[in-house]
Amino acid sequence: MEDALRLESVSKTFGDQVKVAALDQVSLGLPYGTFTAVMGPSGSGKSTLLNCASGLERPDFGRVLIGGQELDTSDETAATRFRRGRIGFVFQAFNLLPTLTVWQNVLLPARIAGTSLSREDKNRARLLLDRVGLGDRLNHRPAELSGGQQQRVAIARAIVNRPALLFADEPTGALDSVRAAEVLMLIGESVREFGQTVVMVTHDPVAAAYADRVLFLADGRIVDEMRAPQAAGVAARMAAFRPTEAAA
Ligand code: ADP
Ligand code: MG
Repeated sequence: MEDALRLESVSKTFGDQVKVAALDQVSLGLPYGTFTAVMGPSGSGKSTLLNCASGLERPDFGRVLIGGQELDTSDETAATRFRRGRIGFVFQAFNLLPTLTVWQNVLLPARIAGTSLSREDKNRARLLLDRVGLGDRLNHRPAELSGGQQQRVAIARAIVNRPALLFADEPTGALDSVRAAEVLMLIGESVREFGQTVVMVTHDPVAAAYADRVLFLADGRIVDEMRAPQAAGVAARMAAFRPTEAAA
């Protein structure tokens, strides 16, 4: 079976006068049902990797394949249609819509994808919100929730229509360790329950230890990887980056 996500020599450069190679010929393959953490110093290209892999940003060179199909970002409408239902994205800043309730926020992807919401969409949204302990907050607005609760709403929203791929850019960055653990367990469950493939950027070795595999980025390249990571081993590997780099 083809990989859930493949990158083939993906490169991305920013800047006019001074060129910065944010990604330098990155290749990787992620099988279905795997949970990968991406770590590396600040500015090493982690967010650019997620943005290129998910089609939010267009690589200068190289190809991105999702379920064996090339993600073509030259036609924005086609790319959006292709991503819809296949890809979920969670950001550090939650990005919930402030004027919508919890319930409306979670149903947003289903509403965007189709003309009307199926009973199945609603049941699943309800189930997800119950499971993250927000079943009694359906009519609250984001501002009435804690950061951890907002991030759990954001994850419920990102997985409600079961996208094959979930990208998360420092999803626990704004959370305390208890809330972070809740969010990570929720992500881990959707990997096990429906074989979702997850790519998560994190600075936290404890968070990375929830993944099956950790990729280490430096200067836009994958410089190392670790399977079945333990927090202590990940922390030691991060400390081995040059001091300036490690000050992420
Ligand atoms: P990380 O997420 O690992 O901190 P990024 O992917 O955000 O790193 O950035 C990688 C490099 O690309 C950095 O040098 C950053 O300054 C640069 N970069 C990222 N996005 C942009 C952009 N939109 N414009 C200019 N430079 C950028
Ligand atoms: Mg980043």
